Formats: sequence, structure tokens, C-alpha cells
Amino acid sequence: MKLKFWSVVVSRLPANAMALYPFMLFKSKSLKSDDLIINHEKIHFKQQQELLILPFYILYLLQYLVNRLKYKNHQQAYLNICFEQEAYTNDRNMDYLHGRKPYAWIHFLKGRPIGSRLDNKSNGKLDQFRK
Ligand SMILES: [Zn+2]
Repeated sequence: MKLKFWSVVVSRLPANAMALYPFMLFKSKSLKSDDLIINHEKIHFKQQQELLILPFYILYLLQYLVNRLKYKNHQQAYLNICFEQEAYTNDRNMDYLHGRKPYAWIHFLKGRPIGSRLDNKSNGKLDQFRK
């Protein structure tokens, strides 16, 4: 499955990359060829498509705000958004989108699965931030 998108470099982006379907924004030109980041953002594209774009952003923001109250910490609030959990858990699997079931992010509403990449970081920090 070929997922088409336009790459745009936005040097002031608050993250390394961001998916705003059909645009994939990158903080720098070199990140445009980072397969891990591209795979992560493509997972967000699928989530955005199946939620018809706008509801994705509403749910994303609502979940962030609820998490912000729960964790009182930006990073934990961000990493515990179900869309991010699906993306971070699966972005190293370059074939993930081929076998992905629709609305797979729903399973992450209950919390991250055991063995998730996020669990391997003791302080919840990741080497690269993707939105
Ligand atoms: Zn993300």
C-alpha cells in the first residue's frame, strides 16, 4: 500500500516531525529521509484518515488535556495519548501498516501493552520526538 503525502520543512516545528494529512512536516531536510519518523507519521495518517481528519485532532487534543490533568507533566501526557502509543509501539515495524486493523488505536485507550517500546525507557523519555 502506497501512502502519498507531501513533505514540507518547517524549521520552527516544535517536534522533529508532524503529520497533518496530507502533509508531513519535518523540522529539517535531513529528517525527510528518516524511515522511522516517516513510518511513525504514516501511522498517524492512517489514524487521521479513519477518523476523517478533524475528529482525530479533537480526540488527540482532548486526550492530551485529560492526560495533562492526570500526569501533571507534558511529556507523560503526550506519550500516553492512544494515537502516540500505537505509533510508538509499532513505528519500528516497517510492515506494520500492511497488516494493521482499522481503528487499532482503540486498543491503546486502556493503556500501553506489556513490552511496549515506551515501557523500556525508565523515565519515559525517547531519543526522538515525533508528534
Ligand atoms: Zn506521534
